[in-house]
Formats: sequence, structure tokens, C-alpha cells
Amino acid sequence: MLATPGQNPVFRFAPSPNGLLHLGHALSAILNHDMAQKSSGRLLLRIEDIDLTRCTPDYEEAIHRDLRWLGLSWEEPVRRQSEHFPDYAAALERLAEMDLVYPAFLTRGEVKARVGAFEAAGRPWPRDPDSSPVYPDDDKRRSNEERRRLIAAGVRHAWRLDMQKAIAMVGRPLTWRETGDGSQVMVAVNPTAWGDVILSRSDAPSSYHLSVVVDDALQGITHVVRGLDLYHATSVHRLLQELLGLTEPVYHHHRLILGADGRKLSKSEQSTGLAALRQAGASPADIRRRIGL
Ligand code: GLU
Repeated sequence: MLATPGQNPVFRFAPSPNGLLHLGHALSAILNHDMAQKSSGRLLLRIEDIDLTRCTPDYEEAIHRDLRWLGLSWEEPVRRQSEHFPDYAAALERLAEMDLVYPAFLTRGEVKARVGAFEAAGRPWPRDPDSSPVYPDDDKRRSNEERRRLIAAGVRHAWRLDMQKAIAMVGRPLTWRETGDGSQVMVAVNPTAWGDVILSRSDAPSSYHLSVVVDDALQGITHVVRGLDLYHATSVHRLLQELLGLTEPVYHHHRLILGADGRKLSKSEQSTGLAALRQAGASPADIRRRIGL
């Protein structure tokens, strides 16, 4: 279901307050802002702070400060994901009722050791589009009784989507509408490569994939403008939207700003941080120039 055509476009910038914004965020935020203005659309700001161990109020304040300094404005109230965990839990529950999720008990360390042993024996372990190892299928093979026993014994666990079952349930090829190259093209969805993605963690009651599709639908987002680093994640998002009966925005994945080393900018890199550039005397116009706008 395409997000309502004919209504005023709704854009969103959705940073995570786990570090300071850099030039790559400036490109995303300004593109969203400018596209909303050009189309008489609305711009929302969403704080994606489900990772309570890494997100802080200080970083959230810095996001507001940097965006205001860039001259951007957005609608209030700002949605803060950590205040809406029940919404994501309800979506997870729906997927559970469809028998598409399972409790995953392997720790990060256990997965790492398994992959390491496999690769040391010269066998390649499948990697997802972000180069992380695909989750092993041990937990998928456990009986319901064993799952119940482990959970009752207090073993920490996440919830994962059974990707093959989910694809089979949708039962037809999916696409998404992409405008990143200027004109609209249909891109074939291919979530298989992600394996059984995580939907909620033992230390965070939701995951990026789950909360982003719930919120985009709930906030009536018609256009998702974000970096090309999230291009492949869109396959997972379209699959979840289809399973949950959520609306489908148009996607626009923009070029990434690279550092001097040719790699994607990181939040820990000081020199391309917006606050550091401001303190060094840069103006918002300098930032626009520097990111090629
Ligand atoms: N919160 C994500 C990030 O900071 C962006 C999510 C999105 O735009 O879909 O990378």
C-alpha cells in the first residue's frame, strides 16, 4: 500500500543520538528540508534512541543545536522512539501471532566464535549487506518446549524474524520506489541476504528495522530520504511493511559524504563534526558548499 498519493508529502530526518552529527547527517537533513519546502510538504524530526545504552540526552540536545544552526526547522512534537516501545512490541506480537519470529539465544560472542571457527577451517560464512555474519540457524531448530524451558530459566534472548518463512508468507516478489537517481525506478526487494534479522534485543526492546517501519507508517511519512548506506536495508523494511500491512513510502537514497580516507564518515571522527566545524568558524553556507549543495 503506497503512502497516500495526493496528500502533502511528509519527510523525516531520523538521527540516533549516539554521537555528534557530521557532514553526512547535514546532507540528509538539508535534503529532507529542501525537498519538503519545494513540494509544500512537512518535515518531521524523529529521535531514534532505542539503544538506551548508547543514546544520551546530551547528544539529543546537540542534534537540535546543530540542525537549528544549519537554519532548519521542523514540526513539533518530535517523536522520541524510547517513549513508544509499546508500539514496537505490538508489531512484534503481530509477527509472533503469524508464527514468523523465534527467540534467539546465542550471544554475540557465541556467534563470533562459531563464525571464526568456520572461517578458520577455510569455509566462508555468509555475510549480510553490512558485512555482519548471518545468524546461525541453531535456534530456529529448537522445539517450542525447549524455547519455553530456556525462557523460563531466564536465559537472555532476542527475537528474530524467520526470513524464509516471512518471504514465503508474502508469497510474491516485492519492489520499492526509488528516486535517488533523479527519476523513479522500481527496485526488486531481496531480503534473503540479511538472514534472520533481529526485531528486539535482550537489552533493547525493539530494533532499528522494526521501529523504523512502524514509525514511518504511524507518522504518515510519504518520502524517506536517507543515505545510500541504508539502501539494502530497504528490502527488510518493505518486507516488514507488507507483513504488518503498513504503508510504503517512496525512497530516495542519496550519495554518501566520504572522509579523506575514502570511507563513510563516522560519528567518532571529530574533524567532520558539525559542532567542531562551527567552532572552527564555518558558516551554514560553508557546510552547504562543502557537501556539494
Ligand atoms: N537512525 C538511522 C541513523 O541514524 C537512520 C534511519 C533512517 O533514516 O531510516 O542512521
